[in-house]
Amino acid sequence: MERFISERAFRTPLSGIKKFSEKALALRDVIRLELGEPDFDTPTYIKEAAKEAMDKGYTHYTAIAGIPELREAIAEKLREENGIEADPENEILVTCGGYHAVFAVFNILLNPGDEVILTDPSWSAYYSVAKFVGAKVVYCPLYEDRGFKPDIEELENKISDKTKLVVLNTPQNPTGAVLDRKILEEVADIIQKKDVILLSDEVYEKIIFDGEKHFSIASIPDIRDKVITVFSFSKTYAMTGWRVGYVVANPTFTAHMRKMISISTVCASSIAQYAALAALRGPQDAVVEMIKEYEHRRNLIVSELNKISGVKCFKPKGAFYVFPDFSEISKDSMSLAMHILEKARVVTVPGVIFGPEIGEGHLRLSFATSRENLEEAVRRIREVVSDL
Ligand code: PLP
Repeated sequence: MERFISERAFRTPLSGIKKFSEKALALRDVIRLELGEPDFDTPTYIKEAAKEAMDKGYTHYTAIAGIPELREAIAEKLREENGIEADPENEILVTCGGYHAVFAVFNILLNPGDEVILTDPSWSAYYSVAKFVGAKVVYCPLYEDRGFKPDIEELENKISDKTKLVVLNTPQNPTGAVLDRKILEEVADIIQKKDVILLSDEVYEKIIFDGEKHFSIASIPDIRDKVITVFSFSKTYAMTGWRVGYVVANPTFTAHMRKMISISTVCASSIAQYAALAALRGPQDAVVEMIKEYEHRRNLIVSELNKISGVKCFKPKGAFYVFPDFSEISKDSMSLAMHILEKARVVTVPGVIFGPEIGEGHLRLSFATSRENLEEAVRRIREVVSDL
């Protein structure tokens, strides 16, 4: 069979996170901190809207770009909350979540051999999709002592004649760093000067703490046409299983992306699109409550981890992950995560999966789980790393 499998399929790595999840399934009494999804249920008003959509018979293919009402609602939200003016007719495409959007962007922009700049660390799916399309990954470090932000000059120097795409993510997975307006304006100057496109992944835009403000780089008019922004309903509304997200980009890009949608998914689920419409139009109290709870959990896990001798945990400003530095205990995050899984029955993700240099020596722990689980998980980790 193997000779029938394409080179692209062969060179695409299996998600490193999945490997740990699969091993965890075979164990009992495991605390799972590897999952990148809210533990909350989808708010009731959103589920009701989906039921109503089914009852009304909205169970067929929709327009490739998504139902017009949803695109209108997205355009309003983008104008009011993100400062982005986008034409719902030809600048907004509804997708099957952020994954689908990122996969499409890489496939549409990158030829084999093109360079893509990813941060070290960054969400591991970017690397896998880059491999799938045959692009070369160039890493730009995010420095922990600068709050996991890039050095702007270094970022500029990483851009070569072969670079086509730069990928940024704020709030960031796995570090929880938030790129503020000032640094994004500096990034915008570079993007404007250079012949590259910026993919801005903002799927965690609402999960942000300490009164920080999310800033969308596409709101800067001078570079608007060189930015493709990815948003999602998954994290904000605890809707990971519904698979709805959207892309905002210039019409030349969206025309090509429409073709890709039409030959792959055709459209996002009609029912899920009506649910997403209700999510945007309905009361946002549930979102506020979830974020408050994440903030409590963030405070708890950061303070507990910092009590472990040899562990330094950066306090994230957004998303629902901590990315503590365990390098004084072990520089090999893969073995450390395996040790913690086998001995403490806590699933974490080795930092090296997110980046070969800065990521190494770290673990990613999700705090999208109960406070009890977090306390118990850190207690178990403390116990098993103390003898290393
Ligand atoms: N972007 C980042 C940074 C993520 O962490 C994820 C999911 O973990 C996604 C995009 C995609 O999420 P979804 O496809 O559920 O929208």
